[in-house]
Amino acid sequence: MRQAGRHFLQIPGPSSVPDRILKAIGQQTIDHRGPDFAEVGQKALEGMKSIFKTKQHVFIFPSSGTGGWEAALVNTLSPGDRVVMFETGHFASMWSKMARKIGFEPEVIEGDWRGGAEPDRIEARLREDVAHEIKAVCVVHNETSTGSVSPIAEIRSAIDAAGHPALLMVDSISGLASIDVRFDEWGVDVCVSGSQKGLMLPPGLSFNAVSARALEYSKAVTTPRSYWDWQDMVGPNGTGYFPYTPATNLLYGLNEAIDMLHEEGLDNVFARHARHGAATRTAVQTWGLEVLCARQGQESDVLTAVVVPEGHSADAFRATTLKHYDISLGNGLSKLADKVFRIGHLGDFNDLMLMATLSGVEMGLAKAGIPHQSGGAQAAMECLKGTGG
Ligand code: PLP
Repeated sequence: MRQAGRHFLQIPGPSSVPDRILKAIGQQTIDHRGPDFAEVGQKALEGMKSIFKTKQHVFIFPSSGTGGWEAALVNTLSPGDRVVMFETGHFASMWSKMARKIGFEPEVIEGDWRGGAEPDRIEARLREDVAHEIKAVCVVHNETSTGSVSPIAEIRSAIDAAGHPALLMVDSISGLASIDVRFDEWGVDVCVSGSQKGLMLPPGLSFNAVSARALEYSKAVTTPRSYWDWQDMVGPNGTGYFPYTPATNLLYGLNEAIDMLHEEGLDNVFARHARHGAATRTAVQTWGLEVLCARQGQESDVLTAVVVPEGHSADAFRATTLKHYDISLGNGLSKLADKVFRIGHLGDFNDLMLMATLSGVEMGLAKAGIPHQSGGAQAAMECLKGTGG
């Protein structure tokens, strides 16, 4: 049956794409080796530096975020290299599985999937590695499966405190452009991101921000690579071009997204996400449900993962909300399957959209028979009223 009104895409990415960006993408495709393309490419490459807060290189690949992960690994590690990977949740776990598949030696520091990566445990492991066999530390900035944020600047300090030369590689696929990323200031060596979250684009672009040190390092790395090779990108990127056909229309969209983010102001974008994160957590607490992130101060402002009471199915609840209120909520991934649902509150999102989302969740909880107290949406509204829009 046709559902009237707009679908609410409240998964934690892809986020809904604003009309301005859809319009930009809808322009005619141009010759990616012709004279007019240089401006498009240069604007995107330079613009992304401003989003990552870096003066160093940003590479853009026509791929999903997973491709960006692979590019980060194959350009910095040689076969058999050791890498420390902190398991904050499903995505951190997937990244380490990828590293093993390619032929690296990931050492996984296990986490409880209820908070960010722990700098002290990383420092302790690096201090033990007196031979400096560990070549990189990989962490997920915003763990989309759990709604927890890792303290990246503190992890850099931990690596430095251990006096260890490992590269710091960060997945901010769902963090960038929603919560602050300070690539240069935080001393990150590689930051991976994707188009379909805070950047408000459809899926299809991935990014590697790369420090001068990591770029230099990549010259000596022996892992076979071609499509993902940073070194092949550097030359053409210098004049706004790419070594193969870029996703031209997504780059139009990206340039529009960069303009929109700067028109609003990055700090305002982050503050908006912070308000929505806080209001959502207030709603969850009022419902008497549990926010999965158990470490205070590490709760994500991009999404909130909500634990469903024992004996109840998060997936059945999500199916109910989709059927009755036309809202898509995120599912629980791997060991969290059917135990949590995730509310995305990222990207091109405002107070009224959040209120509709939380109302949909609250009505869905009642419809699906999940035990809860009503009034969560109301409490979130009070929270939004109190913090100014
Ligand atoms: N890392 C994180 C933190 C993610 O949220 C995602 C996707 O949601 C990925 C990696 C994988 O990216 P993609 O699905 O675009 O390949």
